[in-house]
Amino acid sequence: MITLSRVRFGPSGYPDEAKGNVKRVFEILEESGLDALEYAAVYGLRTSEKAAKVIGDLSRESRIFMSLHAAYFISLASKKEETRERSKERLIKALRFAPLMNVKRIVFHPGTRGGLSDDETFRVIRKALEDVWDVAGDAAGGAHLSPEVAGKVNAFGSVEEIINLCSGHEGIIPTIDWAHIYARRQGAIKSYDDYLKIINQFEDALGKKFTDNMHFHVSGIVYTKAGESSHKPLGESWGPDIAPLMDIILEQGYSPVIISETPVPIRGALYAKALLDELTRTKS
Ligand SMILES: [Zn+2]
Repeated sequence: MITLSRVRFGPSGYPDEAKGNVKRVFEILEESGLDALEYAAVYGLRTSEKAAKVIGDLSRESRIFMSLHAAYFISLASKKEETRERSKERLIKALRFAPLMNVKRIVFHPGTRGGLSDDETFRVIRKALEDVWDVAGDAAGGAHLSPEVAGKVNAFGSVEEIINLCSGHEGIIPTIDWAHIYARRQGAIKSYDDYLKIINQFEDALGKKFTDNMHFHVSGIVYTKAGESSHKPLGESWGPDIAPLMDIILEQGYSPVIISETPVPIRGALYAKALLDELTRTKS
């Protein structure tokens, strides 16, 4: 099979070696052969418009695909009205900054269930995202909202919930965090078929919107009965093993952006890239 796919790899957050020097960030990624970056705004998007534009220009020059991870404390179905409103404001701001920063995906955790039933939680979160999109979707320069599969068993954000959140809305695409699914399912992603079943679920429900905008998080992970506990390196004793995932990507010709969330993210990104390169060589 001839594949024209282009898989991109990158770290979540700036590499430590850059010591916060944004120009150096993009140099390091280029020197490493990486071509994606998930900008970490996990404690809020605090950058000025001017600084955002510098990031955008550097990413365009170096052709590094940009996503942005919005704040951890977003909670769209919170019991507190003020928290819900502030959570929406954060996503609106991220969408408005996206064209400046050359960001194409706003990744976020929708939040907890806030004491609501599963159905109510879904309705509140979906409505919030529709509101956010109505306000800022046109200003986002082609960026999507990208809710992530959650790692805690009781958190909103199962595979099915994320699929439903993305269904029938042009502005919302999924982020599949494979380590989170592994933790949520207590280690039950091991084989090629385990991965394929999940990918097919997304593809059957969302079609081209999914396959054209695949966004994956990878990492090793430690979990308890409650789900994720801490992120670990790839390729060591912790699961999930991402080799079967790479096989599927190669065979199907998918073009995901793969973001590493390992403790040293750039190392995880390089590991994942090397794994795909090796499989490509052995299979061609
Ligand atoms: Zn993640």
